[in-house]
Amino acid sequence: MRGHPVTAMHPDQYDHPAGLYLHIPFCVAKCGYCAFTSYPCGHAPPPAYLDALRQQAEQLARHPMVCERRFSTLFVGGGTPTVYGGAELGGLIRECLTLFSFEPGAEVTVEANPNSVDLQKLTALREAGVNRLSLGVQAFSDRLLRGIDRSHSLAEALAAVAAARSAGFVNLNLDLIYGLPDQSLADWQESVAIALAQGPEHLALYGLSVEEGTPFHVRAERGELHLPDEETVQAMEEFAYGQLASAGLPRYEISNFARPGLRSRHNENYWHNGNYLGLGAAAVSCLDHLRFRQVSEPERFVKLVGEATPPFIEMEALPPAAAFRETVIMALRMLDGIAVAELAARFGVTPQAYYGETFVRLQGQGLLTVADGFLRLTAKALPVANQVLAELV
Ligand code: SF4
Repeated sequence: MRGHPVTAMHPDQYDHPAGLYLHIPFCVAKCGYCAFTSYPCGHAPPPAYLDALRQQAEQLARHPMVCERRFSTLFVGGGTPTVYGGAELGGLIRECLTLFSFEPGAEVTVEANPNSVDLQKLTALREAGVNRLSLGVQAFSDRLLRGIDRSHSLAEALAAVAAARSAGFVNLNLDLIYGLPDQSLADWQESVAIALAQGPEHLALYGLSVEEGTPFHVRAERGELHLPDEETVQAMEEFAYGQLASAGLPRYEISNFARPGLRSRHNENYWHNGNYLGLGAAAVSCLDHLRFRQVSEPERFVKLVGEATPPFIEMEALPPAAAFRETVIMALRMLDGIAVAELAARFGVTPQAYYGETFVRLQGQGLLTVADGFLRLTAKALPVANQVLAELV
């Protein structure tokens, strides 16, 4: 599938500041569709885990691969980070902002679920330096929220948005899921309309994916999950994309929409296959194409960090060709694509030379294009992006 033998490829020369990620693997309750590393804890997450995260931050900030590095984003995700109190979580964020070398104006995001925040907690986070909030709303409908085992209500979602605004958040993302069990096109249209009425700066829209190992998968196998058909799901996407574009939130990535200047900078770094450091159980880091993964179980993570034993369970060094392919695939998720000149400067090769006949074929099929020096998926390719990207792996 590859083109001519590539001799000029060299290790990635990317020199963009890195992202810092903190993983909080606890949620009030587990949602039926969730395949993330998260453990239900009610409203009582273990204090020892935040202490271990703080310890790991101190240990890694001094590491030779990290101490000279600049960071431009901090993202606290999960799970539900806001199961912890504002003072505890805010304290950890403050410490990280001091321990690591952050650029002025860094983007600092916290993920939250509506029933785990109030004005007091959100104010504490703002005061700690958090300037972006990502709320996992998923649906503005009590019936649909119950159907996916979410632990919050429609009223709590609206109250969380109001509290975020009162606390001074002017960069707010809402996550929504479409293709839910028993969700009609009209249900989805209502959720999108209510979401837009909140005036979010950013929206992330995900199609429901039924993953193995989840209760939803078991129900689907038994034929007990009534999902909308493909045509309805497509109509949901078309409706949302049109509404969001008209509301000033154009699509900039397969699932992400933002007002101008308010894209998720943390995720943009991932899509450029940039450097990132992940702290916490199950967190992944990728520094200069050395990839590390940490133990998933929070108790084990706490124990190992307490013993000053590195909690890494996997390390992989990506050869330049693999790093190049990953960079292309990640970047093609963005509607802007990636500059061919950037790829050539980073890896010493162009996608045309690397992919050869495959490239020509995809271009001929109207799926891939190079325009104004940028490599992109075409509008025709976006609905089948996964199949097209699989050809470039
Ligand atoms: S809130 Fe998110 S991370 Fe937590 S269980 Fe639900 S889907 Fe998973």
